[in-house]
Amino acid sequence: MINRKSRDDIKKMRLAGNIVALVHQEMKRVIEPGISTKELDDIAYRTIRQNKAIPTFLGYNGFPASICASVNEQVVHGFPHEDVILKEGDIISVDVGATFCGFVGDSAWTYPVGKISAEVERLLKYTQEGLWAGIAQMRDGNILDDISSAVGAVADREHLGIVRQYGGHGVGRQMHEDPFLFNYSVGDKTPIKKGMAIAIEPMFNLGCDDVEVGPDGWTVSTVDKKPSAHFEHTVIATEDEPIITTKLLEGNL
Ligand code: MG
Ligand code: MG
Repeated sequence: MINRKSRDDIKKMRLAGNIVALVHQEMKRVIEPGISTKELDDIAYRTIRQNKAIPTFLGYNGFPASICASVNEQVVHGFPHEDVILKEGDIISVDVGATFCGFVGDSAWTYPVGKISAEVERLLKYTQEGLWAGIAQMRDGNILDDISSAVGAVADREHLGIVRQYGGHGVGRQMHEDPFLFNYSVGDKTPIKKGMAIAIEPMFNLGCDDVEVGPDGWTVSTVDKKPSAHFEHTVIATEDEPIITTKLLEGNL
């Protein structure tokens, strides 16, 4: 069976995930109007290195940074840059990966910059709800489509667009492992087994579903230029509540 982690693997994945959570803790603290996305990348890099981990994204297929920093209509894979200065009312999706003890943690979060509009707040609220709805289905005995349907149902209910071309994925020693996970139902009957690790990552849009890759060959944006949100955790199935590796560790493993 593909993608089943041992107890020892799970411990290492929780350590890697904790470092990713530390980066997000820093992001939450420093994101405000006036900061550049390059500064965010520098902070993420330092946090990962201080914890003796490797920034998984840096150099991945040639990606030039430790985080993806995607602002407003940008969905994923935005390049951090010193000229991209966050301003009041923006949203920024920060996606980050850390490799530690040979295992990867992968997590994204969309942060408001100062005060944001009510409709964008709604986008963030329900994209995050989509993530939690998916996580709740991540348990031994379910099938992959249980996660996809639960995520997609939240977007449908709230009349939000769903990014179709990108989705979640298995994760472990590599950032991207099988299986691919859609954010809407496609009827995938792959069984979820204890020890399976998946990055669940809904990307919802305030407008329609369509996205396109920009001239840099990486940055994905909505075609209608309406904002997009992205929330992701690395999650391991058990027979009961799933383990979210990319949250701060509390107490002992
Ligand atoms: Mg990610
Ligand atoms: Mg991912």
